[in-house]
Amino acid sequence: MFITAGLLGNCMLFCSCIAAKEPAIRYVVDPYHAYSYEEMLEDASTLEQMYPDIIRLDSIGESVEKRDLLLIRFGNGDRKIFINGSIHACEYITTTYLMYMIDRYAYAYKTSGIYEGFDLKKILDSVTFCIVPMLNPDGVNLVHNGLESVRNPEEVSKIFTGYADWKANINGVDLNRNFDNNWYVQRPENGPSAGGFKGYTPLSEPESRAVARYLDSEMFWTFLNFHSKGEGLYGWDDPNIEYYPQLASMVSRIIEASNYRKFIDTPDTDYGTLLGYVRETYLKPALTFELCRYVYGIPYPDEDFDSVWAPARTFCLIVAEEVMNMEAQEYLVFQNNKFLHAFCDEEYAKTYAAKWANSRVLYIQGGIEKLMNMTVSDISVFVDGRQADMQAYNINGNNYFRLRDLATALSDTPARFDIEYDTGSMAVMMTKGKSYTGDHEDVAPVSSGTMAVPSISGLCLNKEKIEAAAYNINGNNYYKLRDIAAAINFGVTYDHHERKISIDTSVAYEDDTAGFVGS
Ligand SMILES: [Zn+2]
Repeated sequence: MFITAGLLGNCMLFCSCIAAKEPAIRYVVDPYHAYSYEEMLEDASTLEQMYPDIIRLDSIGESVEKRDLLLIRFGNGDRKIFINGSIHACEYITTTYLMYMIDRYAYAYKTSGIYEGFDLKKILDSVTFCIVPMLNPDGVNLVHNGLESVRNPEEVSKIFTGYADWKANINGVDLNRNFDNNWYVQRPENGPSAGGFKGYTPLSEPESRAVARYLDSEMFWTFLNFHSKGEGLYGWDDPNIEYYPQLASMVSRIIEASNYRKFIDTPDTDYGTLLGYVRETYLKPALTFELCRYVYGIPYPDEDFDSVWAPARTFCLIVAEEVMNMEAQEYLVFQNNKFLHAFCDEEYAKTYAAKWANSRVLYIQGGIEKLMNMTVSDISVFVDGRQADMQAYNINGNNYFRLRDLATALSDTPARFDIEYDTGSMAVMMTKGKSYTGDHEDVAPVSSGTMAVPSISGLCLNKEKIEAAAYNINGNNYYKLRDIAAAINFGVTYDHHERKISIDTSVAYEDDTAGFVGS
């Protein structure tokens, strides 16, 4: 949870006094002044209370000075768009912009449902904007409140040249030069400074590490970075644009709406940037917006916010519509059976797969849309009256188990079976009547929200193929107990009051799915 003790206190007070009723909606964000980290947290919390059906708050990690890096999930769609602001401290008006955007769109969603002709109901049902509005809160705090407000003023004063043009994080590392793309080949070492220092190693900073980790944990269709220098756009010239026709369409619609210019990055300037990093790492469309007319050094004047908003007010809606138009991502890349990423285009998927050892591309109809979130289930399992060490996982309303756990639990019973994986046929081979010979090695516990992918491995019993629904989670296959019980032939009953599944190996399997709901 990101919420600070003070805010949480207010929230609980609020919730307990005014029952569970959502507050009346109104505009929340005041953009015409230097918008602070604390205001962002407070406004985000208010917006979440007003719009609990479309706004959920989270955190992706902490800054150097231990500020939570707020994540706002806005929308309920399967197609996710990553958005970040204020990676550069003095460009904090990008945070104002993103918060104001959420405020305006959410209000329109609840009232007319339409914003500037865009159907917000449709958009927020189809996409989720995953927004980190302030990636560099320590730097923003320095810009707003000066040297006295930082944790370690002595250290910062050594590199401090005036806060108005400060871009770096509080260690003097430019976060938008700290990512692992083209990093090693560019620029001799200098040292910590207000801007431009790439760090001593890639991802040396907690803020850049938090983003990289977060971006790996979810599937994004597009990435948007917000800066504030000069009303222009980077990323429109992606060399792989042919694979994503929607990127070209996004760019032309954005330019038509705003009159923004097309900026060009060269390998000399595009090193260590978040844009370059996501483009290279995920091979998905990515854009960097430079909001605001160009002002050298100092932050853009806050009182002039209307001129920032006017040309840029529909950018994220244009991107969302184009993401909704993208083809399904049906080419899935696996490494050692572990799902890595999904793509619309086979060639693109192959390019990505080539970067990873032991990887391959598989076509799965429905593709990424078929991926499921898994939750850890509280159901306990008993084998012939004794509790077994088996964790159940809920995927789309059904309970799934790791085959190895089941084999271990049954190894001393008449229902015992052994398993091996045949890499040639990519099938899991079960042999009935043999005790399990594999290790019951401890697999790191899988946490709820982990992605479950339809398994690509076949399943055989005594060398004959059997039909069984299976999901792959982090490289391990999970099956429904009913399917395995039917194949091996043992009894299974479910007690929904006790939340308990009982396996009886002395009786035959009966197809009594009534009373076995959800398993
Ligand atoms: Zn910038």
